[in-house]
Amino acid sequence: MSARVLIVDDLFPNVKLLETKLSLEYFDVLAAMNGPDAIAICEQGLCDVVLLDVMMPGMDGFEVCRHLKNNPVTAHLPVVMVTALDQPSDRLRGLDAGADDFLTKPIDDTALFTRVRSLVRLKAVTDELRGRAMASRDFGMGDPLALATAETGLNASVLLVEDRPGAAGRMASAIGQHHAVTVEADPHRALLLATEGAYDAILVSLDLEGSDGLRLCSQLRSLDRTRSVPLIMLAEPHERARIVRGLDFGVHDFLTRPIDRNELQARLRTQVRRKRFSDVLRGAVHASMELAITDGLTGLHNRRYLDSHLGALFDDAALRQRPVAALILDIDRFKGINDTYGHEAGDEVLRTFAERLRTHTRNIDIVARYGGEEVVIVLPDAGLCEAQAIAERIRERVEALPFAIQRASRSVSVTVSIGVAVREPADAGPGDMLKRADLALYRAKAAGRNRVEAQAA
Ligand code: GH3
Ligand code: MG
Ligand code: MG
Repeated sequence: MSARVLIVDDLFPNVKLLETKLSLEYFDVLAAMNGPDAIAICEQGLCDVVLLDVMMPGMDGFEVCRHLKNNPVTAHLPVVMVTALDQPSDRLRGLDAGADDFLTKPIDDTALFTRVRSLVRLKAVTDELRGRAMASRDFGMGDPLALATAETGLNASVLLVEDRPGAAGRMASAIGQHHAVTVEADPHRALLLATEGAYDAILVSLDLEGSDGLRLCSQLRSLDRTRSVPLIMLAEPHERARIVRGLDFGVHDFLTRPIDRNELQARLRTQVRRKRFSDVLRGAVHASMELAITDGLTGLHNRRYLDSHLGALFDDAALRQRPVAALILDIDRFKGINDTYGHEAGDEVLRTFAERLRTHTRNIDIVARYGGEEVVIVLPDAGLCEAQAIAERIRERVEALPFAIQRASRSVSVTVSIGVAVREPADAGPGDMLKRADLALYRAKAAGRNRVEAQAA
């Protein structure tokens, strides 16, 4: 994953070292040697992640971070604070300034690449959300951008798999400050919990007594139910090889012991935010796709859906030499219902009509609202006789039971006329078939309505 990383450090050798490492991993690297330059680069939107040294003359890292996080233009940029190992209090100050994560000098390669990648992933989903914000507003689904900005990454449900009572207790209290935490010592039970519960993040100790935490991580990454849940490994610093293996098969992040409370909180927060943004995004995409192909009043497919699917369905039938049929249905004297009982009652009739059509068609049939009170039903694999029989059954079902209107306080009799056609070898496209169905419908109307007519043989 390529991303633009801004390195902010007042010492040239430090900049050079990080630049070399990141370039080798195919990141695009920019550098700034003081706070104001860094802020200018960020404000111009030139970078995706900031690696920020704490100790700089003039404006120090905390001040730069606060500045970036307080400006709406740059607030979404992930910031990693580079702190000295012997200054753990810097991390607390970094968190207060709004830092997203920490790296300790001397910087470890695995930690560097993992942190940068996690934050680039987070920024990618946030950007996507920002990009879609306008489109979703048009669909009247609220504002995902506001949602994203308000998303703190707190109050998550966290599963901690750790069998050392002391470590478990300390971590549970740090996590419990902002989240609900479940501690589980047994990896088998943890796997069950993870597949059954809806966790926002899972932390797994790699040095569980008598079992392999890495195996649990790999299981969690491969099961459908748990694959998208953020996963963080807890490991001894010397377990480098196992950490790298975990990251290779998709574990999202790691913490090395002794676990720093602030790092734990920062890293958990990043992962939870990413997961929630992805969930919002997926939900918004799904909802807007549904909205775009669904008729708002009846819940049937709309004309756009029919137009975009009928061509392929028709060609497929031609290719496989299978029949395909189309029905056009038009409610009889529907205008009269509106005139007598009001437009609202007309809508109720349309909804019930749609409901009956759904009940009397198969899943593979396309039922689409074509116009005001006209519906097209496409029946894959149905020949003329079968399609006529289906149409006749629908006609009977509409006539048989009166339609409740005005919140079931009255009811009205409704009938429907239906034209039936099938694909003919000479047809250039589905339009020809629909035209024959429409002509048949016209004949049904002319012959007195409440009838099924098929295309002329
Ligand atoms: P026919 O038997 O010849 O089909 O008579 P009709 O009255 O059904 O025919 P026409 O096409 O003239 O009238 C259709 C009416 O459907 C006109 C329009 O006001 C009404 N209509 C269209 N869409 C809606 C809707 O969404 N809700 C309601 N309540 N009425 C609608
Ligand atoms: Mg009508
Ligand atoms: Mg009509």
